[in-house]
Parts: sequence; structure tokens; C-alpha cells
Amino acid sequence: MVTAVKGVKELIDEVVKPGLCTLCGACVGDCPYLVFYNGKIKLLDLCTRAEGHCYEYCPRTYTNMDAISQNIFNKTYDASELGHYIDIFISRASDVKTRNKAQYGGTVSALLSLALSEGLIDKALLAKSGKDRRPTGIEALNGEDVLSGSGSNYMAYPALQRLNRLQRDSRENIGIVLTPCQCIALSKMLAYPATQRFDTSNVKLAIGLFCTWALSYDRFFEFLNEKVNVAKIKKFDIPPPPANRFDIYTRADRISFPLDTVREYRMSTCSYCLDMTAEFADISVGAAEGIEGWNTVIIRTQRGSEIINLARHKGKLDVDSIPQQNLDHLKESAMLKKTRATNEIIKRTSAKNDLMYLGISENTRGKLLAERR
Ligand SMILES: Cc1cc2nc3c(=O)[nH]c(=O)nc-3n(C[C@H](O)[C@H](O)[C@H](O)COP(=O)(O)OP(=O)(O)OC[C@H]3O[C@@H](n4cnc5c(N)ncnc54)[C@H](O)[C@@H]3O)c2cc1C
Repeated sequence: MVTAVKGVKELIDEVVKPGLCTLCGACVGDCPYLVFYNGKIKLLDLCTRAEGHCYEYCPRTYTNMDAISQNIFNKTYDASELGHYIDIFISRASDVKTRNKAQYGGTVSALLSLALSEGLIDKALLAKSGKDRRPTGIEALNGEDVLSGSGSNYMAYPALQRLNRLQRDSRENIGIVLTPCQCIALSKMLAYPATQRFDTSNVKLAIGLFCTWALSYDRFFEFLNEKVNVAKIKKFDIPPPPANRFDIYTRADRISFPLDTVREYRMSTCSYCLDMTAEFADISVGAAEGIEGWNTVIIRTQRGSEIINLARHKGKLDVDSIPQQNLDHLKESAMLKKTRATNEIIKRTSAKNDLMYLGISENTRGKLLAERR
């Protein structure tokens, strides 16, 4: 890749300092020079190595979208609303306990538990909220562990740090839950496995979460600490439109904030993200708008299809077709994210032919520019 000569210095100068870091964690967990500390990526010492994997795998450095798309789907990146997919439907976990613990239908937790119990993966890497509600990565070995991490924590956290750590001394089969930017970093590792340690072919299941934006933990909790006893928070939720609220549940109460207020604390880098539905995952999961307790599910790859079929066969998932109006609205929202991000990128670069990190074909660029409002 053209970028391989760049390394940690360029990563800090071009991504971290200008506020473009997504906190995906792709650059930490293996490198001795970079660490995740106090909610930020910090440089401990200047690295002299020329490999530049930290720079190469970052989702905000040059990304050849066609190459990562070809590698997974055998198709180029076309900036379609939802990316390449095989099927789309709604589902929920058949198990009531899973549904009760989960954010919506518990599809993610049900699939991870099944993959573990069937031996398709040895470990599932997912997020768990601490007492201070900061998400950290955990390694789940069974269904109970999976349920301990269920629910959505809308704060960005370095999910790939744990994968990098694990890869140092093991080749176990992994399932992982990732937001869209994290899926892109993983896809870059998959397309360019620079060394054995970055060979992510042992990641057998990548479940992507739909994501409009993620919050900066530090900034959001500075705001929240004055309003809520953080130790009492049990759950966050962003109910689907037209609610326009951010809900915080304690054991006794629901405290709601206008979504516009909370949006102020989102990661600034999210403005430049085109991907709402985790287009590079095996399976992508989000809320089923207006259908309480259900998820929208997009199968993208063959192995994604196989595990969904297994889940249905084993009675682990209830599945139904997606109502046309939901599909239309999902496509509209996903394209809106693409067009908004394209506008923000052009505002930043002041050049229509410079789309920052996005390496895309002339045709695809033309399509994105034509969609802009
Ligand atoms: C930052 C963020 C933004 C989101 N934005 C949208 C959106 O705009 N529209 C939409 O439809 N859905 C969005 N979602 C996804 C949605 O909230 C649910 O996670 C998804 O529908 C799966 O539901 P479920 O019932 O299957 O979840 P569960 O079975 O409860 O599983 C959820 C899984 O997500 C993992 N997880 C929680 N927080 C994080 C995190 N920060 N990063 C990575 N993994 C995490 C948990 O460990 C758990 O394994 C967002 C999620 C996150 C984390």
C-alpha cells in the first residue's frame, strides 16, 4: 500500500491531533509506543519502525474502499445506501431472558452465544459497561458472559485493542462486535495482513452495529455528572424517530434529554463517516424502527448467512420480513449519513476531488457528489 511508509508520527499529526481519531483501537494493544489512556490515544515514545501498521489500519487514513470491498464481497465499493448484502429482515432472540437483558431484540447476543456454544468461535469480544459506565472490552466464553455485556453503550471505545492483544499470543477463533468505523479498520487488517500478528483470518464472525454517531465518554460524562447519579445508570437508549430523545434508565426512573443536546457530545470524527449500517461486517444489526423488541438484520457474507440459518434451525431466532416502509426509511437514513459526511469532508478539504481518507473510484465519487443536497 502507498501509505505503508507512514507511521506513528503521521498518525498523531494527521489523525489524533486534528480530532479525527474514532478510538477504534486498531493502533493500540500491540504497539509498545501507543496506548489508550484516559479516553485518548497517547504516544509514549516516538517509534522508529517503518512498517506503520498503526497508520495503515486506521479508518481515517487513506482507505482503498474498492480493495477492502473486493476482499470481502468480490465486488467494488459502490456507495449504495446499505452496502453489499445478501438479505435483510427483522429478528429477535427466541430466548426471553436474552431479550430482557438486550438492547432491543437481543439478536447480537443470541448469535454470539450460539457461535460460542457451537464451537464456531472460542471467544467473543464485546463491550461491557463499568460502574462509571465507561465501556471496556471483555472476552466472553459462554452465553452468561455474553449477556453480561448486552445492551448499547453509546460511548466510543477501542474495541480492536483487545483483538490486537489477543492476537499477540493466540490464534483462537474470534467473534467480535464492532461499530462501522471499527469494521473498516478490521477490513483493512484483513486485506493487508502485514505480519502474522495482524492476520485476522481467525476472526470468524464480525457483527456490526448500525451507528449514526458515538459519544465522547469524557465530554458527555462531564455534562451528565451534574445531572444524574452515574452509579445508578442501568441503561441508555436512543428510541427511534420521531422520539428525538436520549433516554437514561436508572432502576427507578427514566431521565430524557433532547437528542440535539446530547449530539453536542458526539465524537467530532463521526461527521466524516459515511457508513451507518456497518457495511463491512458479516452481519449488521440495528433497531427495527417502530417494532419494539425487534432488530433489523442485514446478512452480508456467506458465513453470516450460515450462522443465521443455524440460529433459525436451532430455534434461537424469531425472524420476520422487514416492512417496506422500514426498508425505505433505513435506506433514506443511510444515504443521508453518506451525503452529510461527503459535505463535511468537502468543507474540510475545500476540494471536491479530495475526499480525505476515502479512496474511491471516479464513478463512486460522482455518485456521492450527485446525491448531495
Ligand atoms: C455507538 C452506537 C450507536 C448506535 N447507533 C444506532 C443507530 O443510529 N441506529 C440503530 O438502529 N442502531 C444503533 N446502534 C445499535 C443498537 O443500539 C443495538 O446495539 C443493536 O440494535 C443491537 O441490538 P441487540 O438487541 O441485538 O443488542 P444486544 O443483544 O444487547 O447486543 C449489543 C452488543 O453491542 C455491544 N456494544 C455495546 N456498546 C458497544 C460499543 N460502544 N461498541 C461496540 N459494541 C458495543 C455489547 O457488548 C453487546 O454485545 C448503535 C449502537 C452503538 C454502540
